[in-house]
Formats: sequence, C-alpha cells, structure tokens
Amino acid sequence: MHNAIVIGAGLAGSEAAWQLAQRGIHVDLYEMKPVKMTPAHHSSAFAELCCSNSLRGAEICTAPGLLKEELRRAGSLIISCADATRVEAGGALAVDREAFANLVTEKVKNHPNITVHEGEVTEIPAEGHVIVATGPLTSDALFESIHNKLGAHEYLHFYDAAAPIVSFESVDMDSAYFASRYDKGTADYINCPMNREQYDAFWEALCEAEQAPVHGFEDKKVFEGCMPVEVMGRRGHDTLLYGPLKPVGLRDPHTGETPYAVVQLRRDNAAGSLYNLVGFQTHLKFPEQKRVFSMIPALKNAEFVRYGVMHRNTFMDSPRLLDNHYRLKAEPRIRFAGQMTGVEGYIESAASGFETGLNLARELLGLEPIEFSDLTAIGALGLYISNEANAKFQPMNINFGIIQPLGYRVKGKREKNTQIAQRALEHLDTLLDAVQEGKETLS
Ligand SMILES: Cc1cc2nc3c(=O)[nH]c(=O)nc-3n(C[C@H](O)[C@H](O)[C@H](O)COP(=O)(O)OP(=O)(O)OC[C@H]3O[C@@H](n4cnc5c(N)ncnc54)[C@H](O)[C@@H]3O)c2cc1C
Repeated sequence: MHNAIVIGAGLAGSEAAWQLAQRGIHVDLYEMKPVKMTPAHHSSAFAELCCSNSLRGAEICTAPGLLKEELRRAGSLIISCADATRVEAGGALAVDREAFANLVTEKVKNHPNITVHEGEVTEIPAEGHVIVATGPLTSDALFESIHNKLGAHEYLHFYDAAAPIVSFESVDMDSAYFASRYDKGTADYINCPMNREQYDAFWEALCEAEQAPVHGFEDKKVFEGCMPVEVMGRRGHDTLLYGPLKPVGLRDPHTGETPYAVVQLRRDNAAGSLYNLVGFQTHLKFPEQKRVFSMIPALKNAEFVRYGVMHRNTFMDSPRLLDNHYRLKAEPRIRFAGQMTGVEGYIESAASGFETGLNLARELLGLEPIEFSDLTAIGALGLYISNEANAKFQPMNINFGIIQPLGYRVKGKREKNTQIAQRALEHLDTLLDAVQEGKETLS
C-alpha cells in the first residue's frame, strides 16, 4: 500500500486526506487541535469554520457556485458534508457549523485508510510524500521551519477578521423581521432596521470605538473581501449603506417602508438558536463590540455568544514556489494546500485540497495528473497561484476573471457566466468520464 502524509485537518487537509484514502492510499493525518489551538479555532473538530458559516453563492452563474458544483460532481468530502448540514440562507450554501465540522471529523476518523495523529508538527518530514495544509494560522514552529526551508522567499501576510454571533432568543423580534432581499426565495435572514438618527449615532460610535491591539496591524493590510466593519465605516458615512448595511429590497413589514439601514443576521445552526452578524467582521475590543453593536435597536439586549476577532493571515509567494498542482518546484514530493498557498476562502481551500489529494494519489498509482485547466474553476485556482507573471501576488477568491473567457460575445453578465459555467461542467464531466473509462478508482 502507498503512503502519504497530510499535515493539518482543516478544509484543505481533510479534503486532501479523503481523496487520497478513497483511492486506496494510506494517509497519516496530523492535526494539532485540541493539544494546541490556533488563535481563531475553538473546537477540536476538523474543518472548523473560523468565521462565517456561509460557503457563499449556490447558483452556478456565480463563481463560488460553479466551484462547489465542480467539487460536488468530482466527489468532494467537504461539499457532501456541507450539503448534508445545510441551513437555509437564501441563494447561499450555509451550514450548521458544528454539525458540518462533526460530520467531516467522523468521516475522516472512521476511514479505514486514514490514521489520525494528534499534536503539532514542527518540521516538514524529511522523507515521503507530504501535503502541508496548516492554514493561514500555521503554528509558529512549523512556520519558522518552512520559512527556513524556502530560503530567500518571503512569506506574505494580510489580516482577516471574524464576525460576532448572538443568540436568537436575545434578538428583539418586535423591531426585527424575517425577509430575503427583494423577497427572493425564502425569508431566511433576520433584518435589524435603523432609521437615519439611529444609524448616525451607530456610525459615529463605530468609528470612534476602541480597537483591540493586534500585533503588527500597523501596516493595515486587510483583505478587501473581509474588511472589518469599523475599517469600512471609517471610509465614509455612506460606505456601510452600500455594503453590509444596504437596505434595498428589505422593506420593513412593521412600517411598510424601506429602512435607512439594515443589519442582517444569518442563521448559524440548524436549530436556529444562533445567528451571526453578516459582514460584521471586527477587531474592536469585546466590551466595545457589546456597547456599539447593542446600539442596533433589535440587538439592544443581544447576548453575544462569540465576539469577533482579527488575526494575521500568512500565505506563501506561491508563483515563485509552486507549480499548478501545488507542488514545491524545488522538491515536488512536498505539496502545499489551502489558504497558505494564496487561494482565499473555505471552498477555495477545499478545492486546492481536492486537487492535491487527487493528483498525489494518481502520482503514487503511476498515473498522469489530471489537468483541470482554466476551463474549470478548480484548475483556474491552481493556475492563478502558480502564475509567475504575477509579481505582486495577493490571495484570491474564485471569480470568473481567472477562468478562460468564452471567446465570443454574450449579452448580459448572468447569461455569460452561465455559459462559462456550463462549459466548465461539461469539460469536467469529460475529464471524469475519461478517468472512469480508464478503470481508475474514483470516489
Ligand atoms: C479570523 C479569520 C476569519 C476568517 N473568515 C473567513 C470567512 O468568513 N470565510 C472564508 O471563506 N474564509 C475565512 N477565513 C479564511 C479561512 O482561514 C480559510 O478560508 C480556511 O479555513 C482555510 O482552510 P485551510 O485548510 O487552509 O486552513 P484551516 O482551516 O485553518 O486548517 C488548518 C489546520 O491546520 C492545523 N495546524 C496548524 N498548524 C499546525 C501544525 N504545526 N501541526 C499540525 N496541525 C496544524 C490547524 O489547527 C487547523 O486545523 C478566515 C480566516 C481567519 C484567520
């Protein structure tokens, strides 16, 4: 039996281990939780979602929707567990975070080809085929050793924040209401309205509130897609009104009018007892979060079961270091996967774990790697992170800009993206059929 080592059982590592194990490879999977926790992880379960419980858009005319559909068709563990633990969230695929992580953990731990080892790994093993998937909060010791190994190549970083979670019973439903924007789909979100006066007071308090000290944050490199709400607020009085507090399409049934601003709460668990504040990632001090967010009328008595936090996220200068299969160019027996390679987000991390697990299994079985190419979202991510022409490398969510254009004009963005997605899925199906016809094991 062939062997592989996977370090880190997050979104990428769990998926990579699963893909290897499903193809008959024995996997030694190392995870430091619960012996040692990162500053943003709270539970001992694998594939823990640090912040939002949303895996973003579900429709294939959105890039995250396409990526999920590709992974679903290709037999992804993360997507099958997400589908099984889904909670209603309009057009998004959101999950009960605890049920999701528990299901991934149970599946991985019970796989006959996976042996789980608890504890921190401090160096990349000197021999064997290894996938390092220790995430943006890789422990210091391992970080140091990888840094030394990669020599002159600098690690890069930015800051990522998580949003608070409140209990449903503490939300004042006399002033809040269930609705989805423009009444599309089911009314899954709780909407907390504010009038002009309430918004002005909230905005001023938010801009002046005291931030928690975050070591090194002076350089203020935040990820635009996950910007702390107070940083966004300081950009101008109206910025939030075009961002997370956008009121359009959210008419208040109590008044029959569209409020001046609306804070949305998304269900965080299947029971509906917990809700997170959408777009409210923050690094205010905890008492300040309570004081300022309680100025939102529906949250005046809110019980905060978890406060938002901010952490430094580290990623590699992948275009100089990795090929499109996430292999270290200088030592291809070593692969990296997940957010540390510069793919950004839960599903992007799972996708890179899928690619590395699948193609390492193929290599061990004496087969050529599958080239997903930039016709698919999975392939586009690998090509993006390994593109040497990218001199100032920055992490990237999946988007249609990195997938091959159609080559002909189509009227309307939605229609164009749908056609790109259909082409991607046809291409993927052909690849998967070819693999099956070759009598190779697919999950
Ligand atoms: C504060 C914060 C908020 C975020 N919010 C979002 C969000 O809302 N939406 C989103 O899509 N993405 C978010 N992200 C990005 C998120 O980290 C990734 O999307 C995703 O979790 C990355 O998956 P991963 O598998 O690469 O890493 P992780 O999921 O972090 O998994 C890495 C695993 O490796 C383990 N590990 C670390 N070092 C060692 C070691 N030395 N030995 C053994 N095990 C080790 C860790 O314990 C962890 O379980 C956030 C990140 C942070 C830090």
